Amino acid sequence: MTGRIIDGKAFAAGLRARIQEETAKLKAAHGIVPGLATVLVGNDPASEVYVRNKGKTAEAIGFKSFHYALPENAPEAEVLARVKALNDDKAVHGILVQMPLPKQVREAAVLDLLDPAKDVDALTATNAGLLVSGRAQIVSCTPMGMMMLLKEYVGDISGMNALVIGRSLLFGKPAAQLLLAANATVTMAHSRSRDLPGLCRNADILVAAIGKPYFVKGDWVKPGATVIDVGINRVDAGEGKTKIVGDVDYDAALKVAGAITPVPGGIGATTIVNLMRNTLFAACLQSGVPVPAI
Ligand code: NAP
Repeated sequence: MTGRIIDGKAFAAGLRARIQEETAKLKAAHGIVPGLATVLVGNDPASEVYVRNKGKTAEAIGFKSFHYALPENAPEAEVLARVKALNDDKAVHGILVQMPLPKQVREAAVLDLLDPAKDVDALTATNAGLLVSGRAQIVSCTPMGMMMLLKEYVGDISGMNALVIGRSLLFGKPAAQLLLAANATVTMAHSRSRDLPGLCRNADILVAAIGKPYFVKGDWVKPGATVIDVGINRVDAGEGKTKIVGDVDYDAALKVAGAITPVPGGIGATTIVNLMRNTLFAACLQSGVPVPAI
């Protein structure tokens, strides 16, 4: 038996087309063009690629895109002044401050200043709290992508055992909240958890967000389970080349799982598109226009 491969790329392409359509409608009906601003402090090559792709995708969808590059040694006050200016800028509906930040800039100080209405990564305490309260309008992009793929490939997950490995603010914590809100029985695991293989074997939905290549073994997967692999790890591919792999031993897990997300082309493909969805929603909410049902 081999599991179904969850095609995040195809799903993301469909969602992106719907966002583009709604963006055109918003402009035609209300003259509103969603604006996404990215702020990058320093020149980490991976972050530069992420930020560039976000800007390109925003423009391709029909948004206005603004980019601010600050030097690696920019003082915290300069970063905060940029965030404040973007909070006040009416043409900007979504602000993304690329993390991680250099050590002289406190992430908490940036997030506490960031207007929650423009927090399209849903990292502020306000948006995290709204998610726990079941009232979030802007939801973290990758966890949202996970829920969309589960809806598409599994359907109703009510009563299922879901295990989330990893407890980051960016993914693990919001992912657990969303699974709980969808009536799964949720367990969270982390580096101090005991008997991770045993916890995994009990999971109907196994979500790995650890950041360690091939960490989850094939024989940890419950037969027929749905596996969501969030990890992005660069490993040696021989001949001086590298490749991206997930946190799950994919080839082994594919033989046991009912369905599984590949890396790349799985959950990661949905993240950037959900950032665009959040920006569109933020533009609607800030303008008093109903949020489209996409
Ligand atoms: P993170 O902040 O990197 O933290 C890793 C988590 O894994 C922590 O909660 C840690 O536990 C846990 N962990 C580490 N070693 C473990 C072990 N031996 N057993 C069990 N748990 C262990 O998490 P993140 O930011 O969510 O990133 C995780 C991975 O997902 C990375 O590869 C990242 O690149 C990827 N990611 C991808 C996307 C996407 O768009 N596809 C989005 C977000 C993240 P402790 O808390 O106890 O230290």
